[in-house]
Amino acid sequence: MKAVIYNGPRDVSVENVPDPKIEKPTDVIVKITTTNICGSDLHMYEGRTDFETGRSFGHENLGEVVEVGEGVDKVKKGDMVVMPFNIACGFCKNCERGLTNYCLTMQPEKEFAGAAYGFADMGPYQGGQAELLRVPYADFNCLRLGEDARDSKKQNDYVMLADIFPTGYHATELANVKLGDQTVIYGAGPVGLMAAYSAILKGASRVWVVDRQADRLKLAESIGAIPVDDSKVDPVEFIKSETLGLGADNGCECVGYQAHDPTGKENMNVTLNQLVQSVRFTGAIGVVGVFVPEDPNAEDELSKQGKAAFDFGMFWFKGQTMGSGQCPVKKYNRQLRDLIVAGKAKPSFVISHELSLEQAPEAYDHFDKRDAGWTKVVLKPSK
Ligand SMILES: [Zn+2]
Ligand SMILES: [Zn+2]
Repeated sequence: MKAVIYNGPRDVSVENVPDPKIEKPTDVIVKITTTNICGSDLHMYEGRTDFETGRSFGHENLGEVVEVGEGVDKVKKGDMVVMPFNIACGFCKNCERGLTNYCLTMQPEKEFAGAAYGFADMGPYQGGQAELLRVPYADFNCLRLGEDARDSKKQNDYVMLADIFPTGYHATELANVKLGDQTVIYGAGPVGLMAAYSAILKGASRVWVVDRQADRLKLAESIGAIPVDDSKVDPVEFIKSETLGLGADNGCECVGYQAHDPTGKENMNVTLNQLVQSVRFTGAIGVVGVFVPEDPNAEDELSKQGKAAFDFGMFWFKGQTMGSGQCPVKKYNRQLRDLIVAGKAKPSFVISHELSLEQAPEAYDHFDKRDAGWTKVVLKPSK
C-alpha cells in the first residue's frame, strides 16, 4: 500500500510499504478514505520531535472496515468508522475513568501515558495517511457512522471527529464555557476555530478569536465569532475594553509551544500570559495547544527544557483555574457525531484543500509555511 513517510525534517514522500496485518484478534484493518493533516503533524514534520524516519504520519482517520479480527464483536466488515486519534485499551485505570487520552497499556514507555496513530512519543503505531490502517481494540476505538458516511463530501464533516472537533470542544469544557459566557480563544487554526465553534454551539454570548492571519480570522467571523487581529491591536487591552475592564469569563489556548509574539519571535509563554491577563478573576482557562516536556531545538534556554516564564503570580492572584492536555476524544465523539447527523454542526467549514495522498508532500510544504489560504487539508487515499 501507499503511505506518507517521514524521511527527516521537512521531507516527506509517498512510498510503497507493506500492508498492515491483523496482529491481535481484537484488531481491524480500515481502508482509509479520508484523513487529515493536523497542525500537530507539523511539529514532527519540522523535526522538532524524535519521530522516527521511515514511519508514517496521520492520526485523524476515517474509512471502511475491510478486515476483522476473530475477537471483534460489534464492528463488522463494510462498516464506515472514524477513529479517535487516541488509541486506548478500555480496561486500564485511566480508560475506566474515561481518560482514554492517557491510556496506560497502549503506551509502551513506562514514564508516559497515552497513545496515538503516527505520533511522536505516543507508541509505535503507524499513521493513517495511508491506504490502510490497523486499529487495535477495534470495538473500543471505532466510532461507527451511518450510510451517509459513504459519501466522500459527508466524510469531510465526520473526519473532524477524530481530533479537532472534540479537541476544540474539550478546550471549552476545560474552560467551563457555559450558556451566555464571553469567551476568548487564542489561535484561529483548525483547533481554535473548533473551540470557537463549540463555544457558540454551547450558547456563549460573545466569542473572540485572536490571531493575525486574515484568512483564518475570516473563517472565525463566518461562524459568528469576533475576530481580533493581534498584529493591529493588543488583544488583552481589546478584550478588557469590551468587558468593562473585567476580562472574558473564560478562555482557550489553541496555539501551543510554538506561539509567536507580535514581533514574530517564538515565545512559549505569550498566549498563556495573555490568557491570564484577558480572563477575569476566577475565570477558567483550557489549554489544548500542544506543549512538550523538552524542545532541544527551541531558541531560548527555558523552552529547551519545556519551561515557560508563566505569570503564576497573577494567575494565583486572580484565582483562576487551568485545565490542560490532550483530548479524550471518546468522551465527546458520539454526541458531536449526532450533531453532525442532525445538521446542527458542520465542522468541514475549516477545510481549505481536498487532495489525493500523492499530493501530501506539497500540502505539508504549504501548510508548514502557513501559506495564505491553507487552513486545513484533507487527503483521500482510497475510494
Ligand atoms: Zn490532529
Ligand atoms: Zn487504557
